[in-house]
Amino acid sequence: MQLSLSTPPLFLTVWAAQMIAYHGIGLWFLWLDRTRRLARFKTRPVERRPYVEILPRVLFNQIVILLPAMALFQFAGLAFVGPAHIGLVAAILSLAGMSIGHDVVQYIFHRWLMHRPDLMNRLGHSVHHSTTASCSISACYMSAADFLAEIVLPYLIPLALVGGGGADVAFHVFAVTAGAFGGLYEHSGYDFSLTHAGAEGASVRAWMARAAATMISSRAHAEHHARGNVSFSDGFGSSSLCDTIFRTRWDLVRARARRRGNNEPASEATT
Ligand SMILES: [Zn+2]
Ligand SMILES: [Zn+2]
Repeated sequence: MQLSLSTPPLFLTVWAAQMIAYHGIGLWFLWLDRTRRLARFKTRPVERRPYVEILPRVLFNQIVILLPAMALFQFAGLAFVGPAHIGLVAAILSLAGMSIGHDVVQYIFHRWLMHRPDLMNRLGHSVHHSTTASCSISACYMSAADFLAEIVLPYLIPLALVGGGGADVAFHVFAVTAGAFGGLYEHSGYDFSLTHAGAEGASVRAWMARAAATMISSRAHAEHHARGNVSFSDGFGSSSLCDTIFRTRWDLVRARARRRGNNEPASEATT
């Protein structure tokens, strides 16, 4: 791979776009918290740890772990190389593959590695769980090992598996911006589905309102922070495929507990 001094390598451009998206959207959520503009959608109390206390660890992870990992994938020819445009169909198929792949890789690391009782503290997943998913940028407030396993690898491994996205700047910027928004939103404490969630009745309109509410709900990851052993998939924007297959989705766990007909708390119904 040849590097030109006038054009930065693509991984650097994509990383920079991701930083702008992540911290721009993060500041927007902070502004919402400060001004209470959309307070009616805020479902959890504001994080007790101030924003500026969360920020350094987030920046450390993004600069020291994410950036070199993206460089490694480009220099190894696994991503960010190839045609300058991959086409709309390839882009849609790649995004679909990345979404499913992200769910699988993240679920495996999150549920079966990070939440192992003997590894929870040692690998530092407890650091992320010391937050309450009510400050957007806490999405990346985690130990280095946790950040690698739950943020970096679920992004880069599926990207490499779907062909690396070529050198298509628009595709890569869209992917990282969408990913950043999803993580920030589900950790923001806001749930914009509240206006639609209560739609009742069997009409098409009510059904569509409930479907829209499910799609834009941030509840799944909030339930993970609150209960600890449900909804291991990434919440907003995720297919929650693995949570559905392994019956760990927060609403499935509650239903299963009810069926048992005992007084066991819903959150204790799974391992
Ligand atoms: Zn967790
Ligand atoms: Zn979280």
